[in-house]
Amino acid sequence: MFTCTGYAATAADRPLAPFTFERRDTGPDDVRIDILFCGVCHSDLHQARNEWGGTTFPCLPGHEIVGHVVETGENVRKFQKGDMVGVGCMVDSCRECESCREGLEQYCEEGFVGTYNGKDRRHGGDITLGGYSRSIVTDQSFVLRMPVHLDPAALAPLLCAGITTWSPLKRWNAGPGKRVGVVGLGGLGHMAVKLARALGAEVALFTTSESKIADGLRLGAHEVILSKDDDAMQKHKNSFDLIIDAVSAKHDINAYLSLLRRDGTLVQVGLPNEPLPVAVSGLLRKRRNFSGSLIGGIAETQEMLDFCGKHNITSDIEMIRMDEIETAYERMLRSDVRYRFVIDMATMPEKI
Ligand code: NAP
Ligand code: ZN
Ligand code: ZN
Repeated sequence: MFTCTGYAATAADRPLAPFTFERRDTGPDDVRIDILFCGVCHSDLHQARNEWGGTTFPCLPGHEIVGHVVETGENVRKFQKGDMVGVGCMVDSCRECESCREGLEQYCEEGFVGTYNGKDRRHGGDITLGGYSRSIVTDQSFVLRMPVHLDPAALAPLLCAGITTWSPLKRWNAGPGKRVGVVGLGGLGHMAVKLARALGAEVALFTTSESKIADGLRLGAHEVILSKDDDAMQKHKNSFDLIIDAVSAKHDINAYLSLLRRDGTLVQVGLPNEPLPVAVSGLLRKRRNFSGSLIGGIAETQEMLDFCGKHNITSDIEMIRMDEIETAYERMLRSDVRYRFVIDMATMPEKI
């Protein structure tokens, strides 16, 4: 074991604060990583404040982790000391069930092990602690190779925001000739816009923020629609093949279901802490589909990273110091993210 420092919440109503804890030593299949940057996902906030229920405290969030390999176990062949690597939302799964065998570890029948707030199935059952910390030790099977020619800080958000939008875009065949709508221009939404555009789809962004219209176009949307403008919404009825909804709070999804063409699909990736009522008539009328999608598998995460490397796609980020995390959370709650906060881990104290 070795001592590590991080930022954790000790209760749902307490701010994140400096925290010292022990990490396991590098096992035969492990990679030890010195963390350089960690993205700030809205899920971190939902969980640190126990908005979904089920958070175990202390909760140390962070699942968009980029860093250098500093040590490898004896069985590790894929990575070497000095490599730039990433860890996303998962650090383990059963590896044997149908979903795991298909490379869909996020749907593991026994439940995947989350990078934080997960129960570590192979290392004594401890609750996992995430990337708001100086280092992490992760099984090589859940470590990703990062494109080396791009800014590592701006790559960090690909490990959750990127894969969570890539997975449904690929599954529902976003590409040339397809109309794709993206709802909500936050961390996930801005990656959905960039990736859908790079895949060749015709992209429309729906936002509640007038101040984001120009950015939506700059990020790759062909059109930006203010969702409170009823006339503009009417014009798009029955026209989308796929809509990715990345909104973090309660909102009317029926307004978006009605924008789908026959057999079109609305995929919910945003996870508000309240139910979103669905008007069934909207589904029946044009045989529309309503689905959800959870992060993405390890193989498809690597595929997405390689794609981003080839197409020079990174996230638009605002770098923060570790001690600015609570301010970042408050800004995220006001939809004031342009478009992902990333923590510079050099600002994490080595000793607390
Ligand atoms: P974020 O950066 O805070 O973005 C959320 C965006 O939603 C905001 O920027 C805003 O966009 C819009 N929004 C916020 N409140 C709204 C409201 N009341 N009504 C309508 N629109 C509103 O969050 P994120 O990190 O992208 O995460 C988005 C959601 O996805 C969170 O719930 C998160 O937990 C979830 N998530 C799910 C997965 C998964 O596996 N499915 C993975 C990661 C995250 P505009 O200003 O453009 O309207
Ligand atoms: Zn996330
Ligand atoms: Zn499994």
